[in-house]
Amino acid sequence: MKLVTIVVPCYNEEEVLPLFYDEIIKVTDSMSVQYPELEFEFLFVNDGSKDKTLEIFRSLADKDKRVRYISFSRNFGKESGMYAGLQNAKGDYVVVMDADLQHPPAFLPEMYSYVKDGEYDCATTRRVSRKGESKIRSWFARKFYSIMNKISQTEIVDGAQDFRFMTRQMVDAILSMSEYNRFSKGIFSWVGFNVRYIEYENVERAAGTTAWSFWGLFKYSLEGIMAFSTAPLAISSLLGIISCLIAFIVMIITVIKTLAFGESVAGYPTTICVIFLLSGLQLFCTGILGQYLSKTYLESKKRPIYITKETEEIYRNKKNSSADNKTAADNK
Ligand code: UDP
Ligand code: MG
Repeated sequence: MKLVTIVVPCYNEEEVLPLFYDEIIKVTDSMSVQYPELEFEFLFVNDGSKDKTLEIFRSLADKDKRVRYISFSRNFGKESGMYAGLQNAKGDYVVVMDADLQHPPAFLPEMYSYVKDGEYDCATTRRVSRKGESKIRSWFARKFYSIMNKISQTEIVDGAQDFRFMTRQMVDAILSMSEYNRFSKGIFSWVGFNVRYIEYENVERAAGTTAWSFWGLFKYSLEGIMAFSTAPLAISSLLGIISCLIAFIVMIITVIKTLAFGESVAGYPTTICVIFLLSGLQLFCTGILGQYLSKTYLESKKRPIYITKETEEIYRNKKNSSADNKTAADNK
């Protein structure tokens, strides 16, 4: 038998979780018929939700033995949720998918057909449209991918998603990258392996709202650039060199001018402009350095990527022991 673990990071997903569970059960049940060698395990990660997500996990764990969950002590972000899921998955294959049905479970049989014979190590979807997304957001997204692919050696495919069907070998490779600043689009691509892309039209969220604001996405894209490229550092040195060259040229011109026309106090505005420009450039470059330094600082602390507060094991044990206590009390 082959075990498939389905990892689902969730943050405030009470509205969509019941729909998701019904859908995933339908698909995995029919897959078990089509491929009798498959067994499934569902590993939900509660990323510090403030709604009833954890209660839903508990009730799912009550009725379905294949349901496992990890609940974080606070919100650590989707990247940490995925890492926790991959780390705790027991499967020979691991699927990572969103809870909001934007990653349609109906793709799972096709994805499995690519990885089952070892031809591919990973099957993933790639959305070819950004339907349902604002124009500005799509424009920024496209710009991000084009800049990223120019300045980083790691190729990041436009439209590639975190919906992945992976072999154990690839999962172990991803887990070996235990960095704190996680940018999974880069990590998935950095580890290599044979990846099969399935193209599809974007679908909108089944229920609930996205946790990503425009500003959040913008910050995330900067994180991505810094995690997988050191080009900004090179750009800042280049800016330094260019401004030195300009200063040198201006110096020569000034000397020649003074020799030819004598000294004058004219040129005060130019001086001010140059001072402003150069100090601006210096601060900009120091800022870039500072950003990389702060990332290094966080990495060097070796903080855990997530902290677990509750798992289905803890929950089931607690429930069993309270049931035992009750029967013991009844028997007295
Ligand atoms: N998510 C999470 N932690 C967060 C934010 C989101 O685990 O801090 C989960 C969320 O529950 C969903 C997935 O990540 O399953 C994708 O989130 P969302 O749908 O909000 O993002 P979008 O599809 O808009 O990129
Ligand atoms: Mg979504």
